[in-house]
Amino acid sequence: MRLVLLGAPGAGKGTQAKKLIEKYGIPQISTGDILRKAVADGTPLGKEAKSYMDSGGLVPDSVVIGLVKERIAQDDCKKGYILDGFPRTTPQAEALDAVLAEMNSPLDTALSVDVDPEILMKRLTGRRTCKGCQQMYNLHFNPPRKEGVCDKCGGELFQRDDDKEDTIKNRLEVYEKSTAPLIDYYGKKNILKSVEGMGSVDDIFNKVCSILEA
Ligand code: AMP
Repeated sequence: MRLVLLGAPGAGKGTQAKKLIEKYGIPQISTGDILRKAVADGTPLGKEAKSYMDSGGLVPDSVVIGLVKERIAQDDCKKGYILDGFPRTTPQAEALDAVLAEMNSPLDTALSVDVDPEILMKRLTGRRTCKGCQQMYNLHFNPPRKEGVCDKCGGELFQRDDDKEDTIKNRLEVYEKSTAPLIDYYGKKNILKSVEGMGSVDDIFNKVCSILEA
């Protein structure tokens, strides 16, 4: 299964992707995760990406396209993969199509995860991640038992730099302008499906699976 998850920041793409990995045994390719790791490791890529990420803007297409090309050519992607946070612009989607055409392995589905804007804001401002095990929490919807501490491993919880309110506004605007047009792009290719991304994680996941298996 070669799947693209579309949806605004905070729509829950990463959460659903993690459950899909378990069920289907295919990797998640999150350009946001790859870039955050590069920033944390202080690599040249990370140094280039950091200022764009901190402001809530997009890292240049050429950079992320190169990353994804390299990643999908790896062995563990032979059975398929879940692209999460890529493509985010029309040139990225076109570049992806071109690479996949060369590999003779087009996308099967682009699944749009749809969430109301007020809920997106709460999900993003409330999001906290464990420094130790990466478990995610939300102060509004799924708080840890003890403030600032991970239920699972006792690690310290932190807020992503780009989850601060000003940056979030910019990320949502960037989404509307640059990424939302991809819904039409994949609609025209007849591979677009959509799911309402509100309710419990498990309910959404059940809907996602029925859509993918229909
Ligand atoms: P995410 O975790 O997907 O919300 O991504 C966090 C940040 O990484 C974004 O706000 C962008 O600055 C950058 N980023 C992630 N994926 C892409 C992409 N496909 N194109 C450009 N920038 C990206």
